[in-house]
Amino acid sequence: MSEPVIVVRPGAGTPDLPLVYDSPHSGFEFPEDMKPAIPFEILRQNEDAFVDALFGHVPVLGAVLVKATFPRTYIDPNRSTADVQVDAVDGDWPDPVNNSIKTKRGAGLIYTKIHGEESIYDRKLTVDEVRHRIDAYWRPYHAALQAELDRLHAAHGGVWHIDCHSMPAKGNIHTEDGPVERADFILGDRDGTTCDGAFTETARAFLAGRGYDVAVNVTMKGVELVRKHGRPAENRHSLQIEVNRRLYMHEKAISKNDLYPETAQVIADMNAVMADFVRQRRAV
Ligand SMILES: [Zn+2]
Repeated sequence: MSEPVIVVRPGAGTPDLPLVYDSPHSGFEFPEDMKPAIPFEILRQNEDAFVDALFGHVPVLGAVLVKATFPRTYIDPNRSTADVQVDAVDGDWPDPVNNSIKTKRGAGLIYTKIHGEESIYDRKLTVDEVRHRIDAYWRPYHAALQAELDRLHAAHGGVWHIDCHSMPAKGNIHTEDGPVERADFILGDRDGTTCDGAFTETARAFLAGRGYDVAVNVTMKGVELVRKHGRPAENRHSLQIEVNRRLYMHEKAISKNDLYPETAQVIADMNAVMADFVRQRRAV
């Protein structure tokens, strides 16, 4: 098993930029103690497959890439540790609880359902199991991301973070948007609260200029990672990006489709533009 989180920094000779990307949902190393009641191939339908590869070039631009190796169905770094579904835990959950709208469809901190329907477990999880997932996976992921953001903020007087995801081509009856075709890309800054609006607009304008349908703060506005790390008043900026899976993969087979090379190139071109933005805005 790999470490729960991998941090890839720019190579020697590449100037550091205060720019950090993270891919919290592309991992698929299932810990042995997960013991799901359904096959891993079904669990993997919830993975943001290949997102770490689509953004894998960013260290060449001077940016850092932080990625999870564990699957988001085991524990989701993009949820608060208070988002525990208490009826899925055996006995009383002793820590504070603050559920999100996603928990009702089994998509809280610890997933209990796939696509809001199929149950992942045929048992309740123990308090110790949930705490272990938080302490051994969620916390190291957040600590690694926080350390990179803090290090670069201290060195440059500001830091820019892009939280990278992919989404199914269509929602379903359990998702907030319903069973509709989604935009090519959805950008989220929690209605302008987690980053400088110019950062969001730079990404939007670039993608729209390449002919893509780009939505902003529609359905996927950003969740825990941008909420926690985006504080524009402190010159800490976090933007969430969702790439539509139809632009690069066969969703059922979890394999790359014919559009993958073109989409990978567009994302690389966008990231070069985002790096230029950061180069101009950093204080030092
Ligand atoms: Zn995701």
